[in-house]
Amino acid sequence: MDILISEDLDAPAIQELSRKFTVVRDATLWKDGAALKERISIASAIMVRNQTHLSADVLAAARSLVAIGRVGVGLDNIDVAAATKLGIVVIAPLDANAVSVAELSLGLMLALARKIPLADRTTKAGAWDRKGCTGRELDGKTLAVCGFGRIGRLVALRARAFGMSVRTFDPFVPANAPALAEAGCELCEHLEEALALAAGDFVSVHLPLTDQTRHLFNTRTIAAIKRGAYFINTSRGGVVDERVLLLALQSGHLAGAALDVREIEPPQMRGALEDLDQVVLTPHIGSFTTEAQTRTFEAVCEDLHRVLRGQPAENFVNRARPGR
Ligand code: NAD
Repeated sequence: MDILISEDLDAPAIQELSRKFTVVRDATLWKDGAALKERISIASAIMVRNQTHLSADVLAAARSLVAIGRVGVGLDNIDVAAATKLGIVVIAPLDANAVSVAELSLGLMLALARKIPLADRTTKAGAWDRKGCTGRELDGKTLAVCGFGRIGRLVALRARAFGMSVRTFDPFVPANAPALAEAGCELCEHLEEALALAAGDFVSVHLPLTDQTRHLFNTRTIAAIKRGAYFINTSRGGVVDERVLLLALQSGHLAGAALDVREIEPPQMRGALEDLDQVVLTPHIGSFTTEAQTRTFEAVCEDLHRVLRGQPAENFVNRARPGR
């Protein structure tokens, strides 16, 4: 088998690939660790989104694997260090969906500030409650962008166009980085400094999920956000302790929150977050635009094609050519 697809993935670029290679698709394989190990043992490449966990243990079983194609950005479901050690190329087109995620972040900010989901729900139910839908403007407010990477930068630029002043926290960005000046963005040395906002201001999270960022938004840091701010997370659910976030919303410490990502996806049961009018929830759709999906699938499929034909990958995150 040339390429194994272990999730529910389909695109014209995959059909194109299957004209040249043997492609085996099993939409539910990611759920069964033992079956995944068995099938991956005879695959030359695997294509995944974020449901398949390619741990060191699974990769050890992948004796002929030379490439992993990740349709998306976060790499928290792939043990990249283990793949690198085994000489496996990890392909992930990191730029392909940044614009889509940034646009969704701005959309969620506006949805929260102008209560768009509430206005939609109540109007469709027959009400005409203009007063109850009184919102806030983005203009003149401060936005804290946590994580000034590909997406964070695009959010900062777009927020400036809305008349917001933007500060960021990212210990890996040097104070003289040109992108800061380009986005008119102030770099804060400490997270709490970035979060010390005023009522009506915004915090938008754009961090990878790592050991350092897991529950970075916890009792201490959420308390550091000034009362009345809005919280938006389109990065990874695990960076926020949802129980603490819920308490902050119920107590009125936060004016609202918009979450595209959750600690458990999909959530196993309907919780209290779902019942709050000041909470906007979307099902991890940051990269779900026609444009981003097309770019991502094309980039991954073209790179798998290259690697399986003995050429170097272009969108690799560890090595361009297999070392086995
Ligand atoms: P990126 O790697 O370009 O940027 C992440 C930034 O976070 C980097 O600048 C890094 O220096 C910074 N960072 C890392 N650890 C930090 C820490 N402890 N404190 C502060 N900053 C830290 O990534 P990106 O492409 O901008 O993506 C950001 C996040 O968005 C990723 O987690 C990705 O998984 C997620 N994402 C979500 C969707 C979606 O559908 N909602 C789609 C794409 C990406």
